[in-house]
Amino acid sequence: MSSRNLEQIECACGEQFEAELWTSISVMEDPELKESLDAGEINVVCCPACSKIFYVEHFLLYHDSKNELLAFVYPPSFVDQKKQLTQKMNTDIDNALVGLDADQKFSYRPILVFGLDALLEIIHADDQWEDELAILEFLSEELHFSVISLHPAQARRNDLPRLLPSVPVAGGNRRASVLAGLELLLGHNELLSHFRAIRDRIIKHTDWTLSPELIIGPL
Ligand SMILES: [Zn+2]
Repeated sequence: MSSRNLEQIECACGEQFEAELWTSISVMEDPELKESLDAGEINVVCCPACSKIFYVEHFLLYHDSKNELLAFVYPPSFVDQKKQLTQKMNTDIDNALVGLDADQKFSYRPILVFGLDALLEIIHADDQWEDELAILEFLSEELHFSVISLHPAQARRNDLPRLLPSVPVAGGNRRASVLAGLELLLGHNELLSHFRAIRDRIIKHTDWTLSPELIIGPL
């Protein structure tokens, strides 16, 4: 659930005033807040004395359950407390999960982020994949190759998209199947630059593999 808190704010002009700041954003419930975040409109206030408009650094919990992105976003000035904050985050989540019903529990872990810019970088990196993933899904039906679906949070941690093409290779392993899938995909659309980068990375790493815990299953 998204929520706001009334906070005491001090302007550079010395004026002190109260304003509501977002402390929690749930993208599934309030998708428009993701757009506001992207537009730089989250936690921006206007000083009633000098009319200066400015962004206020504040803790934010950002949750996009579809993309398995749960981020604890602290102001950049907290970066030297990373170790303690990571411990606190993990304890908080473990405690919160205990209180959830079985159908609300989730298996992915939260990430610690410093600053909204760092959060936006992660969101943009995810969004940049969407066009290529749509083409992958379209071509997999047209060309009848299978698609491996990955857990989004784990795929992100491994710098992979949430879907990968796969073509069985006689006597081959998963690496060979994914590479064959990528070659087929890129053979039909050479403009898929993100998939091309993944293919080049896999070619370079001969020991590359897809660990089973990443995989949800074939689509
Ligand atoms: Zn002011």
